[in-house]
Amino acid sequence: MYCPVCFQNTMKIRSNGVVKLAFNGKSRNNSLYTYNLQKETQEQLLAKLRDKVVDFFSFYSEFNNKTPIKNFEVYSADFMCSNGCKIDVMSTKVSVVGVIYTKAEVKALLLAEGKKFGIDIEVNLES
Ligand SMILES: [Zn+2]
Repeated sequence: MYCPVCFQNTMKIRSNGVVKLAFNGKSRNNSLYTYNLQKETQEQLLAKLRDKVVDFFSFYSEFNNKTPIKNFEVYSADFMCSNGCKIDVMSTKVSVVGVIYTKAEVKALLLAEGKKFGIDIEVNLES
């Protein structure tokens, strides 16, 4: 992964940190969770993601005009560069799709939960 400071392919996710979510650019105050890649299984990490997606969807499903979810971000600032670059935690948003979760896992989860709550999912995770 490329470092935003030195532009070298030297960025790695920290073994533990915080993941944040945004749906069409919106988040709830609690749309975040901690992860620990050394202690948690993939199932546990997916369960945490699912909990927060469900939390947001149950809130969003109350809206009268629900626009489809076209943009979904699951990201973290807990990355480090092996060149020792200082990563700005406030402005760094690095997607963890392809790092913690696969695109297929994220898409399947969104589609399944969207269906339960009557929310259309038109997310393109290729970006
Ligand atoms: Zn760097």
